Amino acid sequence: MEKRELVIIGAGPAGMTAAIYGRRAGLDVLLLERGAAGGQINTTEEIENWPGVQHATGPELGGMFRDHALKFKTEIRSLDVKKVELRGDAKIVVTDKGEIEAEAVIVATGAYFRRLGCEGEAEHIGQGVSYCAVCDGAFFEGEEIAVVGGGNTAVEEGLYLTAFASRVYIIHRRDEFRADRAAVERALANPKIVPVWNSVVERIEGDGAVENLVLKNVKTNEVSNLKVSGVFMFVGQSPCDECVRGLVKAGKEGWILANEHMETSVEGIFAAGDVRSKHLRQVVTAASDGAIAAMGASAYINEQLHLRSALLEPESVTAFFYSGADADQARLSNEAEKIAKEKGKENGKKMPIIDGYKNNRMIEKLGVALPSVVELRRGTVSKAVKVASEADLAEALA
Ligand SMILES: Cc1cc2nc3c(=O)[nH]c(=O)nc-3n(C[C@H](O)[C@H](O)[C@H](O)COP(=O)(O)OP(=O)(O)OC[C@H]3O[C@@H](n4cnc5c(N)ncnc54)[C@H](O)[C@@H]3O)c2cc1C
Repeated sequence: MEKRELVIIGAGPAGMTAAIYGRRAGLDVLLLERGAAGGQINTTEEIENWPGVQHATGPELGGMFRDHALKFKTEIRSLDVKKVELRGDAKIVVTDKGEIEAEAVIVATGAYFRRLGCEGEAEHIGQGVSYCAVCDGAFFEGEEIAVVGGGNTAVEEGLYLTAFASRVYIIHRRDEFRADRAAVERALANPKIVPVWNSVVERIEGDGAVENLVLKNVKTNEVSNLKVSGVFMFVGQSPCDECVRGLVKAGKEGWILANEHMETSVEGIFAAGDVRSKHLRQVVTAASDGAIAAMGASAYINEQLHLRSALLEPESVTAFFYSGADADQARLSNEAEKIAKEKGKENGKKMPIIDGYKNNRMIEKLGVALPSVVELRRGTVSKAVKVASEADLAEALA
């Protein structure tokens, strides 16, 4: 089976930034993409909030990211990742074109906006139909626009859009919003916000750009026209998490949970960009996640190589295992380090000191309790002594 150091799934802004950082850290990087490199930005005509580039189309910016990743000799391969599996210690990326074993995986598969599904929506995406107020709000300075939805996102983004638009109609199929009371009160108190109750959008019309919405009142069946130059759909966003669903922990609606190092619940699998549970889904935050994930993956891969050569390969070795998350154990590790230095001078051997909190899988694999002094013979535990104090430690290492 093909073996690679870092496999990145998804060549959007997060995945391509991860590739640039991964290659510059000296890793062997394979970037897998099922569509066109660039990700979601490929579908937008205007990007004005990527620092340093005052204006670009989405495909232009995506192309710049791809060229940058290629400059550092990233291998980008066109295929669909079906799932990621753990087989023993190995992380296997299963694709429509075979399997790849990876030392570390970054899941950067992004997200998608749910469509409303009405007539005229698809043709007007980027021509007045938008799913992202932060991305596109500024293009509607002084114009009348509409928002579709009645939950928190619709109401809060509607309020955000009043900074640009002269009027924001919020079209909702019920006669009250489902959003938090505070947000609803602020929205209803804002003179620029006009709720359109009990209504759905039947059709979006316009020659090129959006000009008119055909609305239907769901109570009276009455049909009416609403002249607007833009319509923002807030009917939900979902993660593209299928390939790791059930493998890594996810929060509400499937958004992958990752910590500030982009580590998921599975050691060696990182998540970056829109696919993870986060507050702001934008190119700049996706790129930031990608950089952090790649540096985390690089540290993880180096640590795994170190663990293998320090613990599993030698004929015999004595190691100290502790939890870096426990202050007492961390103090004990400082003492272990001192003893290791002294003994090393005497016998010329190195004693690995391993943070079992960071290397949980190795701890599980060896079946070691923390903190312990452990003797290993060719990767198998031959003796393990649990220690609770400096005196215990000195005795175990005597
Ligand atoms: C119309 C529109 C306009 C936007 N405008 C702006 C804007 O002006 N400014 C801004 O900052 N942000 C904007 N955004 C948001 C921005 O595009 C996203 O936040 C950003 O692209 C997220 O990057 P990502 O790499 O996390 O995911 P994505 O861009 O979604 O990329 C994920 C990639 O993974 C691939 N993938 C998914 N699953 C698999 C699989 N199983 N196997 C292989 N490949 C897979 C996908 O094909 C995709 O290419 C806009 C989004 C849209 C839709």
